[in-house]
Amino acid sequence: MKNYMKLEFSAISENEPFARSTVAAFCVRLNPTLDELSDVKTAVSEAVTNCIVHAYEGKGGKITIECEAEEDVLHIRISDEGKGIEDIAQAIEPFFTTAEEEERSGMGFTIMQTFMNGFKVESQKGVGTTVAMTKKFGGNKETEVKAHAQ
Ligand code: ATP
Ligand code: MG
Repeated sequence: MKNYMKLEFSAISENEPFARSTVAAFCVRLNPTLDELSDVKTAVSEAVTNCIVHAYEGKGGKITIECEAEEDVLHIRISDEGKGIEDIAQAIEPFFTTAEEEERSGMGFTIMQTFMNGFKVESQKGVGTTVAMTKKFGGNKETEVKAHAQ
């Protein structure tokens, strides 16, 4: 059976660990390995940080996370109602950043693409941005055992 959850919270940096832990807790029923869980947490962390620092430029706003789980696949959508992205193709290029002065490396979207199995950005200037990602769980158990042993 499908499982669904929706989370809405303020776009402040204190909420980033809360968001990533909540999504991880939702995923646990899907039997992820520790590596897979860590991939999801990292991707959520990058997407939520982007909402806080880029979409709302640190001024706060609303972030919505929706998760849907079916069998061993997690679908996740992270949305803001912030300033939007004019050129998505350029934004997702490795090392592209509009925040060089803040010493950002421009790797957030690249990390999301690398760590997740599916990745898509939808955005409209002045309306907001949604990052949709999927993760398929079910990596080999060897990874899980090794990760436990560390
Ligand atoms: P890093 O993630 O390495 O700290 P970064 O945030 O600049 O640096 P990405 O996460 O790859 O790098 O994002 C690339 C660019 O896309 C950002 O610099 C910003 O201009 C734009 N961007 C990303 N997410 C959003 C968003 N939710 N709303 C508006 N613009 C965004
Ligand atoms: Mg980023």
